Amino acid sequence: MSMRIGYGFDSHAFKPGVPLIIGGLAVEHSEGLEGHSDGDVLLHAITDALLGAVSAGDIGTFFPPSDSRWKGAASSVFLQTALEEVATAGYKIVNIDTVLVMARPKIVPIAGELRESVARLLGIKPGEVGIKAKTPEGLGLDHVAMAHCTVLLESLPSPEALEHMAAQAEAGSEEELNAVVEGLVGRHDLTALGRKVNPFDTDDLT
Ligand code: MG
Repeated sequence: MSMRIGYGFDSHAFKPGVPLIIGGLAVEHSEGLEGHSDGDVLLHAITDALLGAVSAGDIGTFFPPSDSRWKGAASSVFLQTALEEVATAGYKIVNIDTVLVMARPKIVPIAGELRESVARLLGIKPGEVGIKAKTPEGLGLDHVAMAHCTVLLESLPSPEALEHMAAQAEAGSEEELNAVVEGLVGRHDLTALGRKVNPFDTDDLT
């Protein structure tokens, strides 16, 4: 099995009079993000991280802003293309981690919803999606939203490996069959990592 990592970054300026879309969610706010598409800064960073992980270029390679077809496009379309590139390269997502940087709106109250929306769009579990938020303190960028994303991919079993495992299972005992199944799908359930409480006691950090 081989693994790959990817990293993506994106930024968009806030603009009055347009809806705010983050992670495929319509978020209640007085302004939205300006962009050729729907301006979904989080999905753009995730899309670039996925494409980067399989050395497939970036979002602009596939969807140039000069192409009027993508004007106002839902960014889930871009994400879907990146997922197809990942699958074509023979990989699947292990987990992703993200950081949103914006002064407003507050992300913490919607972080759970964001995680579920992103997980649904990626076809992974919410426990495999990290959503973290920062304010752009000291940067003078309160009119901008930024997003960073890292992804980890692992290779899918090759057709030859699958055949080999199937042959082993046919010849083997139930115990061996279970080992094969574990080898195919066996990943630790990371849902427990999606905890909503602080992992340490902040009172200790005064
Ligand atoms: Mg963008």
